[in-house]
Amino acid sequence: MQTKLPETYRQTPQGEEAEAILRSCVHCGFCTAVCPTYQLLGDELDSPRGRIYLIKSLLEGEAVGAQTQQHLDRCLTCRACETACPSGVQYARLADIGRHVVEQRVPRPLRVRWLRGALRLVLPHTRRFALMLGLGRWARPLLPAALKRRVPVPHRQRGWPPPRHARRVLIHAGCVQPALAPDIDAALARVLDRHGISAVPVASGCCGAVHQHLAAPDAALANIRTNIDAWWPLIEQGAEAIVETSSACGAMVREYGHLMRHDPVYASKAERIAAQCRDPAELLAGLNLEDVGRGRRIAFHAPCSLQNGLRLESLVERILRQSGFELLPVAESTMCCGAAGTYSILQPELSARLQERKLTALEQHHPEVIATANIGCLTHLQGGSALPVSHWLELLA
Ligand code: SF4
Ligand code: SF4
Repeated sequence: MQTKLPETYRQTPQGEEAEAILRSCVHCGFCTAVCPTYQLLGDELDSPRGRIYLIKSLLEGEAVGAQTQQHLDRCLTCRACETACPSGVQYARLADIGRHVVEQRVPRPLRVRWLRGALRLVLPHTRRFALMLGLGRWARPLLPAALKRRVPVPHRQRGWPPPRHARRVLIHAGCVQPALAPDIDAALARVLDRHGISAVPVASGCCGAVHQHLAAPDAALANIRTNIDAWWPLIEQGAEAIVETSSACGAMVREYGHLMRHDPVYASKAERIAAQCRDPAELLAGLNLEDVGRGRRIAFHAPCSLQNGLRLESLVERILRQSGFELLPVAESTMCCGAAGTYSILQPELSARLQERKLTALEQHHPEVIATANIGCLTHLQGGSALPVSHWLELLA
């Protein structure tokens, strides 16, 4: 794609990156067929190709308004378009740049600013989120049914084995997962312990994805620095990997090297940490796992962050089959469930349509349980289903 970005902008790191991405797009449109918002709305400007065109126009200095902002807001950042793209266009990185520029140029209505500010004030902070969730649970019986479904029921944490093996990994606790489902990390620790690997919990805070996806890159970088400072001494003491049990956090940590590349203090540490970040499936794939499934029928929802961010298509499904579970076929398995971080709060109508479509596909063959690999998807799907929805590690443990 030809571009005419202003010379001053082209010479900035952001301008240089945006231009390279824009030029790699050949406008073929292969990506439109896999885009959830294009499938729902049928508008070219709600497709990846349309959004790339909008970002190109705004970076070239054309007038930009609420319409452009809305088309970019409607994007789930599911990255299905990246997986489908034959030219390797790094759409999500371009979307981050575009959203940040729009955020500076187009003022949002007060109510939306307040909501986005509240999300940034609460979600990335473990204690604040736990407090708000506790209040929500306390008030749950008084809430109308539609709201009640959005407040997840408490999960019990079972045991976390003490460290006793020479092989060690770190498990990053993240921001919302400890309050929502505290047994997911412990479940992985128990499975690893049975196979000679000790897991050390590290509660250093949000991976940065919440701020990043709400067009606040500086706050995201602050989260990343905090994590690097907390993890680095443990890496130097011989921890062989940083494990993210939430695939969305894993996809974010894999970007640390890229996001910190211009920081003279953190760049090399960030690169090494990104290289040492592992999804649990990558660790467990090489182990001789026990038959714990005993033919239990499950439907697995592969989060977009697992398929398109980490590019681990089918690995979890393979591990679950090897562990004795029966995996039922799921139609449209590459389609986003509509959770997408804060999307279900900021774009509730589109999110609900995707949730319904996904649950229809997951429940079609009557599974005993729905499994997934990301806390956001888990909570979102559980809010619309009478079936239990679990993290696949809880099933394995
Ligand atoms: S598939 Fe890739 S190259 Fe083709 S229009 Fe989409 S982003 Fe551009
Ligand atoms: S990230 Fe997902 S929703 Fe956004 S343009 Fe790409 S396919 Fe569409």
